[in-house]
Amino acid sequence: FLMKNNMDNQDKNQTKKVVTRFAPSPTGYMHIGGVRTALYAWAYARKHNGTFILRIEDTDKAREVEGSIQHIIDSLTWVGIKWDEGVDIGGPNAPYLQSERLASYKKYGQILVDKGFAYADPYTPEEVEAFRLKAQEEKRPFLFRDHRPENPPVWDGTQPLRFKVTKIQTTHWTDLVYGELSAGPEALDDFILIKSDGYPTYNLSHIIDDLEMGVTHIMRADEFIASTPKFLALYEALGITAPAMATLPPIMAPGGKKKLGKRDGAKDILDYKAEGYLPEAMLNFLVFIGWNPGDETELLSAEEFIAAFDVSKIHRSGGGFNVDKLNWLNRQYIKKLSSEDFWSHAKHFLHDKIEDSSDNQEMLKKIEPIIRDHIEKFSDISSMFDSGELSYFFAKPQYEVSQLLWKGSASKENTKKYLEEVIAILESLDNFSKDSVHDAVFPYADKTGRGEVLWPMRVALSGKDKSPDPFTLAEILGKEETLARLRVAKDML
Ligand code: GLU
Repeated sequence: FLMKNNMDNQDKNQTKKVVTRFAPSPTGYMHIGGVRTALYAWAYARKHNGTFILRIEDTDKAREVEGSIQHIIDSLTWVGIKWDEGVDIGGPNAPYLQSERLASYKKYGQILVDKGFAYADPYTPEEVEAFRLKAQEEKRPFLFRDHRPENPPVWDGTQPLRFKVTKIQTTHWTDLVYGELSAGPEALDDFILIKSDGYPTYNLSHIIDDLEMGVTHIMRADEFIASTPKFLALYEALGITAPAMATLPPIMAPGGKKKLGKRDGAKDILDYKAEGYLPEAMLNFLVFIGWNPGDETELLSAEEFIAAFDVSKIHRSGGGFNVDKLNWLNRQYIKKLSSEDFWSHAKHFLHDKIEDSSDNQEMLKKIEPIIRDHIEKFSDISSMFDSGELSYFFAKPQYEVSQLLWKGSASKENTKKYLEEVIAILESLDNFSKDSVHDAVFPYADKTGRGEVLWPMRVALSGKDKSPDPFTLAEILGKEETLARLRVAKDML
């Protein structure tokens, strides 16, 4: 860990304002890995009173998926991330859409040509493919620089522009998370800067944008480590200082052996929103995949996360995706909601489950603690209704006489007697709170047999083999309805 560079120490030597960015490509939905990257970059900027930028890297037109930009914006907004400059709000470094910045890339492409660090690639794709195949046959790595043209044509924007690696060497660099890294000369080749369609490659565009936008710290996924020698060669050729780089550990599938893929739950982050996860829980969940504050803390708000975030505490090994953890967190945040907020989330999962009458509304309020205690995410409410678990709160319970008998073996006669006694006790009870019903009935049940008395009482009220205890049910149903249901049961026996 000695080698682990500490961004905070480094920043003391920097007078520059911290600028971070999240730079997704609009190639589909956002999965949790992308949102976590954004969270770290955002938190770092916030913590240092810096600027956080949302830039869209849309230079691969073939992979672009319509609607992705709005999807990215919605996903980040849902977890509570706000940017200071970006594709939708503009800012001093606009535009923030790479396809609108082609002139900049072209300008720097020409600068590199003029400095002798880039050249027009005269080959057809077929010719390049032939080089590749030949190298394969000869069992040597294919390097474009072995085929560098002696007299390249003048670059007119229609040929690919390639970087010319001038120092074939082992590259050493420091990553703020992974420490000292190095890669041999084979990592350096004459890579494409600008394609024949005029669009830059990631290798060029992100460097130019980061430069023009004043980015001081890059946080990104580990797939970019392999290309970092190329980036560094390009920074050097341009005569610019590379921003600090922090590579984030991958998110691993349950089991920890491979990276999280679509099959393991790497789904659209907005699917979690649709299922009724709370954004606070999702934020809390994501920030802990790959980082923790170094103590036992499990619950962190966005503000607390920003205050505690420290790049030197980002883990090097992949953090595991564990949906049970997410569910647990969501429960914690559901517990904290005010009643009003609880229902504003819950209501999306109620429509077409019960009629929207004032009686039903009133009943829903009464069973709020039961629902709250039972669900991991708000969509579970739909399942509770679908499985009939809550039906007896809204309609008379349905059950067979045999269900009323304790362990299925108590006699009808005795069971009837117990219910008659419970009815008598409750008829003279005015306060129908759970505790009051308990204190009135329990001594009798204790003396007679708890199961013998309380089981039929509960089944009479719910019709279910499993439900909340009979005292809770009595309080929710109220005196009149409780007595009515007990009488129905008694008459069945
Ligand atoms: N456009 C790249 C991606 O979506 C961004 C990588 C970076 O942050 O530089 O992975």
